Amino acid sequence: MRNFSPFMLLVLMALSLAWAPGPAVAGEVNIYSARQEALIKPLLDRFSEQSGIKVNLVAGRPEALLQRLQSEGRNSPADLLLTVDAGNLNRAMEAGVFQPISSPVLEAVVPAGLRDPEGHWFGLSKRARVILYAKDRFDPAGISTYADLADPALGKKICIRSSNNVYNQSLVASMIAHQGVEATEAWVRGLMANLARPPQGGDRDQISALAAGQCDLAVVNTYYLGGMLNGSEAERTAAAAAGLIWPDQKGHGTHINVSGAGVTRYARNRDNAVKLLEFLVSEEAQQWYAEVNYEFPVRADAPVGETLAAWGEFKADELNLARLGEYNPAAVRLMDRAGWR
Ligand code: FE
Repeated sequence: MRNFSPFMLLVLMALSLAWAPGPAVAGEVNIYSARQEALIKPLLDRFSEQSGIKVNLVAGRPEALLQRLQSEGRNSPADLLLTVDAGNLNRAMEAGVFQPISSPVLEAVVPAGLRDPEGHWFGLSKRARVILYAKDRFDPAGISTYADLADPALGKKICIRSSNNVYNQSLVASMIAHQGVEATEAWVRGLMANLARPPQGGDRDQISALAAGQCDLAVVNTYYLGGMLNGSEAERTAAAAAGLIWPDQKGHGTHINVSGAGVTRYARNRDNAVKLLEFLVSEEAQQWYAEVNYEFPVRADAPVGETLAAWGEFKADELNLARLGEYNPAAVRLMDRAGWR
């Protein structure tokens, strides 16, 4: 080594940096994810393979991750927060943990209704909140809208989870956006009067209860039905008992929601976070959401698997999902007043 001049040493150092393998140069990106690790990890591994960017994942509950981001402030290692439901995404935005992102790729691929207008968050996969009916004993002819669920003539036939769940809050928020507080409150009261049992459990539990004869109608997100149709034998049997109704096809369309993500306010790996978001809306990643988690792609040209294809086309509500966040507090208060436990 002593034969090299200081200049030559510098040249050698520069060359060795230039020759360093991809991953070391490409860096990393840190994600806080409210999605189950199994539902996102294979996609992240694929992103790392393609980009050389290392992905570090912290998984947790949506509320806990948001709290953590807030209390860590500018010291947070997170570059990206991944969560479900526009209600949660808007809550995070209002808490100030996101920064606005402008990306031609994201703006071209994600429809305007499925992202924050200022780029604080982007929808990555779509789900619909639908009505299921017991195929062997219930005639679905009388139920074609969410409004029909509140018809006093229906009787105590419905299973639905509790009001502290954001999926129901977002459904109620969408109704407030369309028809105002008063009409929506009357609907919630009518719905409560038609419950077959007090609200309890998750969406899968409503499907099981329907199959077990505890109710003739259930309100659930589509991917739970998709998951059970492809699940264990008991799940497949339960799911097979349910017929699917796309509500409001002649009106505003079926209520939809998203899983999505935003780049954090103090992201140190901002560019990598944007690259990851762009990867998550690539055709390959979008197809994965549809085939593995039974969610609908946000990009129109991504193919869906057999389960989703069998459900056919439906008209989705085009309400901008940012509005769900806007009306979330009013929805929560309304549900409480109307006795939705
Ligand atoms: Fe869910």
